[in-house]
Amino acid sequence: MDEMCEICGVRKAKYECIRCGRKVCADDFWVMLGLCKLCVPESQYKEWKKKMMK
Ligand SMILES: [Zn+2]
Ligand SMILES: [Zn+2]
Repeated sequence: MDEMCEICGVRKAKYECIRCGRKVCADDFWVMLGLCKLCVPESQYKEWKKKMMK
């Protein structure tokens, strides 16, 4: 796959979101959910971020 990520447009797309079908890079994708960043609810995203900061 050599399409570019549809979210950041900087890195190469590596995954495809199961909800919106966007091709996204590893940084913009939640592998465990199969969803791109834009499809993850903000509340959940914040919660994970908190956990990762620890
Ligand atoms: Zn990206
Ligand atoms: Zn998506």
